[in-house]
Amino acid sequence: MARYTGAVCRQCRREGQKLFLKGDRCYTDKCAIDRRSFAPGQHGNARNKKMSEYGIQLREKQKARRYYGVLESQFRKYYEMASSKKGVTGENLLSILESRLDNVVYRLGFAMSRPEARQLVRHGHFTINGKKVDIPSYLVKPGEVIALKEGSRSIEKFKISLEANGSRKAPQWLDFDKNNLVAKVVAEPARADIDMPFEEHLIVELYSK
Ligand code: SF4
Repeated sequence: MARYTGAVCRQCRREGQKLFLKGDRCYTDKCAIDRRSFAPGQHGNARNKKMSEYGIQLREKQKARRYYGVLESQFRKYYEMASSKKGVTGENLLSILESRLDNVVYRLGFAMSRPEARQLVRHGHFTINGKKVDIPSYLVKPGEVIALKEGSRSIEKFKISLEANGSRKAPQWLDFDKNNLVAKVVAEPARADIDMPFEEHLIVELYSK
């Protein structure tokens, strides 16, 4: 599937917020947001002084889309899924995004960033209920078991990532057995499980126009 391949730090600078797209670097003083926290481009410093309502809604949508690394067409599909589900559409949308397999791999600490997690899934390192799944957009469901494939367990990269991400706790909706590198989905992700300060109602307002 197509994906954005431009300079990733520009995306954070455009949204004025860390989106954690580059792994280690995001936690160091090399982070572009810490060094230049204005929008990219010639007029980046001057832009966004006063944004229209539409502009604010658009930026919030772009922020969520980039955070999860999803293209516009797929993001809209998620919105449609969210609005057809019971409950609050904005919260449903975040729950769907959070359920993507690449996000799960990142949340469990197997990867340093979501883009890296996406690549690891594509390379077939993970199984769901014992079967290989190499589709990053696969949406995990309660009861499913995600595991690092037997043949991938000796790969040094995973040991390094799990160690480096040791302080990052897996969310409550994933029951992670770190010794056996297996996680069970025990619930759908709830709004409280998502630590990024999204204002999802703005995204809903944008799409409901
Ligand atoms: Fe964003 Fe990470 Fe780049 Fe900082 S280093 S601007 S958080 S991608």
